[in-house]
Amino acid sequence: MRPPPIYLDHAATTPVRPEVVAAMAPFFGPRFGNPSSAHRWGREARAALDEARERVAGCLGAGADEVCFVSCGTEGDNLAVLGTWRAARVAAPDGGPARTAIVTTPIEHKAVLAAVHQAAREGAEERLLAVDANGVVDRASFDALVRDDVAVCSIMWVNNEIGTVQPIPELAAAAKVRGVPFHTDAVQAFGKIAIDARTQPFDTLTLSGHKIGAPKGIGAFFVRRGTPLEPLMHGGSQDRGLRPGTENVAMAVGLARAAELAVAEREEECARLARLRDALEAELLARIPDAVVHGRGGPRAPHVLNISVPGTDSESLLLALDLAGVAASSGSACQTGSVTPSHVLTAIGVPPELASAAVRMSLGALTTDECVRRVSELFPALIGKARRLAGATS
Ligand code: PLP
Repeated sequence: MRPPPIYLDHAATTPVRPEVVAAMAPFFGPRFGNPSSAHRWGREARAALDEARERVAGCLGAGADEVCFVSCGTEGDNLAVLGTWRAARVAAPDGGPARTAIVTTPIEHKAVLAAVHQAAREGAEERLLAVDANGVVDRASFDALVRDDVAVCSIMWVNNEIGTVQPIPELAAAAKVRGVPFHTDAVQAFGKIAIDARTQPFDTLTLSGHKIGAPKGIGAFFVRRGTPLEPLMHGGSQDRGLRPGTENVAMAVGLARAAELAVAEREEECARLARLRDALEAELLARIPDAVVHGRGGPRAPHVLNISVPGTDSESLLLALDLAGVAASSGSACQTGSVTPSHVLTAIGVPPELASAAVRMSLGALTTDECVRRVSELFPALIGKARRLAGATS
């Protein structure tokens, strides 16, 4: 009998938790009301939505009036970057210089980078922070670029490809001193890092449900009271006009449940994942001594392991892994027929041949000691296969 397949792609998405499905179920049945309706169905939906908002806010140390529901992390990131930039652009100058620049890092998710590029098409000046070989933001570069002419500074808390953790509380505090609105993409950080808006002075924050055991298609966006923000969409007064459109009550309820579980289990689960990740890393490096683990020398979240084996390429290794029943991913954007090395690995100085061999294994709820043992045993043989495949296609 074939052993069960191994899922090592939790940074891409996670299985929906049964507790979340159970919490959502009534809203696909009798509790179908529209929260904007004044009758009993509407009132019942409104109460569920308000409660979900309060619970998500509680997980962030925020007030309920500081949380809005969005469709995904990508939307939250766009709202943060474009919404803050457009608000700064339309604001009357307060005697200081016009806020025309946006500061971010070269290792952000495309949801932030593409939103920054859009702002640049609208007239913003893009400034990219320097990062070190582990992806950590260079403080001198931050101090040089984050000035009082910046409309928004957006820095991800945990990198999705290599797991680097940025010192967000410290950077947000430094931005605050300069009056610069600070956004953090916490899509990979929520449930891994202790987040508390009461003590950590970020102005906006994005999280995404499907990375924490809720379904795809729901996220939450924190916006600190008083932060100027232009909505991306227009048409209704839901979510205080920041995010018009009939609210997705079922998904909001599911997100609240998933967020609470993630916070409650965070410390124990992070310790478990760090132990499994370290074991997998040690096994792979012992068996394949020329393998390189990216971001290993810096602070890393416990669920990401990004490894390159010289002489292979990501596509061949992922194919060999998939045929052996192991699901992982590459940091590369696969375009028809060609694989572009990851912008993250390129930005931290990984040479192209090594960057195009990178494979990201991301751990989570489905990862066990047995998964680590099987992948460690399988890997060396798969490397041989991938090297032959890479040789055949080069
Ligand atoms: N930001 C980061 C760091 C991510 O890892 C992802 C998804 O992979 C996103 C943003 C986008 O989130 P979503 O898939 O919910 O749009």
